[in-house]
Amino acid sequence: MTKPPAGLSTKAIHGHPHPKSVSDPVVSPIYQSSTFTNPIGSPEGVLYTRYGNNPNQLAIGERLAALEGAEGAIFLGSGMGATAMAHLAVLHPGDHLLSSDWIYGGTRRLFNEEFHRLGIDVSYVDPSDPRNWRRQLKKHSRAVFVEIVTNPLMRVVDIDYLATFCRELGISLLVDSTFSTPINCRPLEHGADIVIHSATKYLNGHSDVIAGAVASDQPVIDEVRRLMTVWGPAIDPHQAWLVERGLKTLSVRMERHNTNGITFASWAADHPAVEQVWYPGLEQHPDYEVGTQTLDGFGGMVGLELKGGADAARSVLEGLRLVTHAPSLGGTETLVSMPRFTSHSALSDEELKEQGIADGLMRVSLGIEDVEDIIADFETAFEQLRS
Ligand SMILES: *Cc1c(COP(=O)(O)O)cnc(C)c1O
Repeated sequence: MTKPPAGLSTKAIHGHPHPKSVSDPVVSPIYQSSTFTNPIGSPEGVLYTRYGNNPNQLAIGERLAALEGAEGAIFLGSGMGATAMAHLAVLHPGDHLLSSDWIYGGTRRLFNEEFHRLGIDVSYVDPSDPRNWRRQLKKHSRAVFVEIVTNPLMRVVDIDYLATFCRELGISLLVDSTFSTPINCRPLEHGADIVIHSATKYLNGHSDVIAGAVASDQPVIDEVRRLMTVWGPAIDPHQAWLVERGLKTLSVRMERHNTNGITFASWAADHPAVEQVWYPGLEQHPDYEVGTQTLDGFGGMVGLELKGGADAARSVLEGLRLVTHAPSLGGTETLVSMPRFTSHSALSDEELKEQGIADGLMRVSLGIEDVEDIIADFETAFEQLRS
């Protein structure tokens, strides 16, 4: 195999370029087949879609490995499947996991409802003071899990600090990089061991697929593949093909998400209807400095806290015409949701307050429309607040 190209856009489109023969299709065909002919008298070379060795699955694994600068990568049937298998690849009964407190609600459910049953102990650490990691360390701590660019306040966790901390202890650092994508951050370059994605979001980018991915060293990827084969959360070939198509435009989509993000956040920060804007590209954000060191772009996710709390938020949501009220993120269309009813619905009022998630907090996933039109839609909805 040839060396991967240097640029992220080229990597997303070609992976490792393979020489083509005359009449080869330019675009990968969809191998919509569960099974493949196999050699007589040998288990070697058996292709079966649950094993993750269907050509459509392999093609996107290679692309993501190139983008993340990883030895290997593998796609699974959902982000949750990827999160579960990545953790089970490094944790065993009796082990302890130090998890950031700022994580996706589904991941918190996985830890609380399942890991406990498997004998894996989980502590939640408030990353706002880095010393908290060492304070909650146990003798049987084996891994640290964080999200980079967190939901919904877009906090940026200092993964350089955590990589040093984990290396010193000989434990694994797992980073869910769904919000940043390899265009804005490549956690392995910062010393992380495993990168996890909900490919449902930016990697596919068109709100039409559920998928997940893990990128890491080859032994970890081999173990994730073994776990996927045994537990069964493989990705369907057609979904994999859609992800391959989505990946080709990842770089240009992220460029637009980044500029729409900063433009929208700057506009909202100056608006009289807005109490606070959470966007790491604004100097007023608590992680502006860490963000500048860690990220190549600040992304398309913005937290918006309105004056007037939950009532104001409801009124604005009802007034939006172009922007759609729906959970999820990372697609071409702008979506807005209320984290307390979606990603963070498992938290109590007390826990929401502790995490700084106000009653009227809205989370905006800026799409790649013309940002003037998105702003105009919000402006109209904000005007109704005054009347
Ligand atoms: C959506 C999401 C997940 C879960 O991914 P699915 O593809 O819905 O299973 C995990 N982590 C983060 C940060 C997410 O946004």
